[in-house]
Amino acid sequence: MAAKTSKARAIVLRKTKLGEKDLIITFIDESGSLRRGVAKGARKPGGSYASRLELFTVVDVMFAEGRTLDVVTDAKRAVDAHDTPSGLEQTTCAAPIAELICAVAQEGLTHERLFDMTALSFSTLSKCESDACPAVTAAALLKALSMAGFRPSFDMCVECASPIAYPLGAGRVPLSYADGGVVCASCAKPADAVLVDGRTIEWARALLFSTFADIAGMNVGLGDSFAVLHLVREWTRVHVGRTLKSLEFMFASAIW
Ligand SMILES: [Zn+2]
Repeated sequence: MAAKTSKARAIVLRKTKLGEKDLIITFIDESGSLRRGVAKGARKPGGSYASRLELFTVVDVMFAEGRTLDVVTDAKRAVDAHDTPSGLEQTTCAAPIAELICAVAQEGLTHERLFDMTALSFSTLSKCESDACPAVTAAALLKALSMAGFRPSFDMCVECASPIAYPLGAGRVPLSYADGGVVCASCAKPADAVLVDGRTIEWARALLFSTFADIAGMNVGLGDSFAVLHLVREWTRVHVGRTLKSLEFMFASAIW
């Protein structure tokens, strides 16, 4: 009897080796749910459809139901999809986004905005100059964290719920990772709060609430982008319980 098949439009997030010749591909599909499938023979040179399963690409995939894992039987680049990050800077900046999506999305759990956000962040990166890429990563990570229920509170004090006035001005602002955001000047600084440069909070808030089209034109400096990425690293550690290896790679790389 023929295996049950299904189709999906999906983005390639991760490739893991399986045996000598195969790969396990992790995708996020249009419903925002994670999907995994074995691409048989994908590691052989000249392997048919495997060449179309490049990381960060939007593809139309055909799955056949397998006993434990589905099998990818065909994949084509989605014709009306956005561009794919391909240069060193672009792929280095796309990797932490893919890694976080793999951590917060789940198989069988739909979350449509997560797919759109991921696709848009990758297409934005594909067109970005090297120095503009880290701001896109910071924005995408903050958006993904927020969609997954871990949105930092930048506009309301996490202790007393009073509004935080912007701009913050010069100086440092208490931020409690564990309590979920900024603490106002009237509240006593909680023991676990750290002092963060107000400018970093302002950039993190701007990146979280701006569209990728706007971010491309915001000219965020590299220092500011990396300061936000450090905030995101700690946020992810506390709330998702993960250290993103590809984000650590960004920090350690000599690209910027
Ligand atoms: Zn307060």
